[in-house]
Amino acid sequence: MSVKKRKFKRNRRQNLEENELMNSSVSKEKKKKKFSSQKETMNFNSPKKMVLGKMKNENKKKIMENRGKMTNKRNRSEIEGEKEEVIESKKRRKSKKNKSNALVKNSGKKSQLNKKIDVNTLKGMLMDKEEEKNKPNWENSSSTLRERMIAQLRSSRFRFINETLYNNASFESKKYFKDDPEAFDAYHKGFQQQVDNWPLNPVDIIIESIKKCPKDYIVADFGCGEAKIAESVSQKVHSFDFVAMNDKVTVCDMAHTPLLKSGVNIVVFCLSLMGTNLNDYLLEANRVLKKGGIMKIAEVESRFENIEDFIKLVTNYGFVNTWSDLSNDLFYFLDFKKEKDLEKGKSKLPAIELKPCLYKRR
Ligand code: SAH
Repeated sequence: MSVKKRKFKRNRRQNLEENELMNSSVSKEKKKKKFSSQKETMNFNSPKKMVLGKMKNENKKKIMENRGKMTNKRNRSEIEGEKEEVIESKKRRKSKKNKSNALVKNSGKKSQLNKKIDVNTLKGMLMDKEEEKNKPNWENSSSTLRERMIAQLRSSRFRFINETLYNNASFESKKYFKDDPEAFDAYHKGFQQQVDNWPLNPVDIIIESIKKCPKDYIVADFGCGEAKIAESVSQKVHSFDFVAMNDKVTVCDMAHTPLLKSGVNIVVFCLSLMGTNLNDYLLEANRVLKKGGIMKIAEVESRFENIEDFIKLVTNYGFVNTWSDLSNDLFYFLDFKKEKDLEKGKSKLPAIELKPCLYKRR
């Protein structure tokens, strides 16, 4: 091989080696760059983008920083405002809540009121008031007052009739009731009211005692009222009064009954010794009673000035006191047996008086 050829071969080898060296470093560099570019591409897709990305990153950083700065600035200046606004809005919300609470409370109160005063009750009250307005004047006052007034008038009338009976001779009372038969009714309604207030009704005591008597006894009830005895006992009863309250009653002044002389076994005066002529009643009792017959008297205790004196006086009328019950606070019960007939006008008999039984105003 020639020197030229050898020189050429040597140069080519050198070039090749240099190229190889060059390529390997370039490829390394390339690889490096490629790796880094791949890395960048992951972020920004392309080297261009990478630069942009870098730029963006930096911008972003700056923006963020600026934002941070701005935020910081805002925090200082605006946050105070915001705080105030928050406080204000809190206040507003609180006041709104309070208002709504108040409304709720009020509506609660309202519903409570509704419960207390029901609408229908109010309507009823209004209607009552209207009705009251439409009533005639004399009825406008409360009905209880009217009732009380009527009761008082009844009571006054009863007391007036009662006093008339006690303070007049029986013939006058007889005339009084004849002229005003309705007065008798008024008297007996009042009398019944009194009876209702008593712990016992004396006529019941008398009824019980007559029930024990023989069935063939004849009874004369002087001043019988409703003729309760005749209704209650099995014996024959003659019932007398000024006015007949029922068909059992014979109208008469008991000072002069239509009974025959010495025909009855029992004569009863139950709360009926009224008038200024009591002696006439005792004479009539003596007349109609059989000898040994019983005169039964039940009277208000307070009418007797002295019960012993009364008993003595009665004995002057042909009677003897056989039994008495003075134990009751309100009433005295007395039995007298007829001992003898009295001959009218032969001997002057002592006057018999009892205090009138005046009922109190109620
Ligand atoms: N004995 C009845 C009624 C008592 S009230 C009873 O206990 O339930 C008194 C009654 O005696 C009245 O009805 C009154 O009219 C009557 N009375 C009083 N005096 C009278 C008389 N002279 N004649 C007839 N009845 C008389």
